[in-house]
Amino acid sequence: MKGKVYLVGAGPGDPELLTLRALKTLKSADIVLHDELVSSEVLALVPASATVISVGKRSGRSSISQQEINRLLVEHGLLGLSVVRLKGGDPFIFGRGGEELEAVRQAGIECEIIPGITAALGAAASIQVPLTHRDVSSSLLLITGHRAQEIGIQLSHADLAKTTVLVYMPGQDYLRIQHELMVAGVASETPCVIVSRATTRDEQTHLTSVRQLHNAPELPAPTLLVIGEVARFAKPVATAGRFPFQSHEARAMEGTL
Ligand code: SAH
Repeated sequence: MKGKVYLVGAGPGDPELLTLRALKTLKSADIVLHDELVSSEVLALVPASATVISVGKRSGRSSISQQEINRLLVEHGLLGLSVVRLKGGDPFIFGRGGEELEAVRQAGIECEIIPGITAALGAAASIQVPLTHRDVSSSLLLITGHRAQEIGIQLSHADLAKTTVLVYMPGQDYLRIQHELMVAGVASETPCVIVSRATTRDEQTHLTSVRQLHNAPELPAPTLLVIGEVARFAKPVATAGRFPFQSHEARAMEGTL
C-alpha cells in the first residue's frame, strides 16, 4: 500500500506558530525531511520514533539536490510510510513546494499540503507592521532578492506608492538593492525594515529608509526586507512572541551589556 506525503509549513521559527494540523501530522510521521530553516524548537516536537533527515541548504549551497529530495519523498511514499516534508514558513512560498508536489503526484502518491505562516506574515506580526493599511498600502508584493538585478523588473508593474514590498532572500548587498529600488522609482524616503530571525529569540530589526539602505548592518540570516510606508509602524526593538528579546543595541543603551 502506498503511503502519503505531507508538505508541511513549519512557520517562521516560533513553534507556537505551527498550525494544529501541522503538529498532528508531525506526531504521526514515520519520516521527516526538513529544511535548514526549520527551528530546533519545532524539530523537538517530532516523536523519537520518526526518522529525521536534514535536506537543507547551508550558506546557499544545497547539500542535497532538489531531485534527490523529490526522489526521497517518492521512495519513502512508495514504502507505505507517512512522509512529512517540513519546510520553513509556507511550503508554497519560495520553497520549491510546487516541484515536490509534482514529483509526488507523478509517482501516484497522495499528497497533502499543510500551510504555514510565511516569513513575511510572521515578521510583520512580530515587529507590529500592518502589511496593508487604509490610505497607506493597498497591495503586497512578495519578491525574492536572490538576484538583486531582478528586483527592478519585479517592481515595474506595481503602484509603488501604495504597495508594501517584502523581499525574501535579500542577501547582504544592500547597496545593489537600494540601487534597484531607486531605479524602479521607489521614493528614497520610503521607510524600510530588515528583520533577522523573525519570531525567534534571536530576532533583530533594523529600521532605515531606501536612502540609507546601503548603511544597513549585516544581520544574521535568515533576513527579510520590508519596504513601504507601513514600515514606519515597526517597533524599534522587537519582542518576539513568548521569547522576550532585546537587541544588542538596546541592551547596550540600557547598560545591561
Ligand atoms: N517558504 C519560506 C521561504 C523560504 S525562502 C516562507 O514561506 O517563509 C527563505 C527566505 O525566507 C529567507 O532567505 C528569508 O528571506 C525568509 N525567512 C524565512 N524565515 C525567516 C525568519 N524567521 N526571519 C526572517 N526571514 C525569514
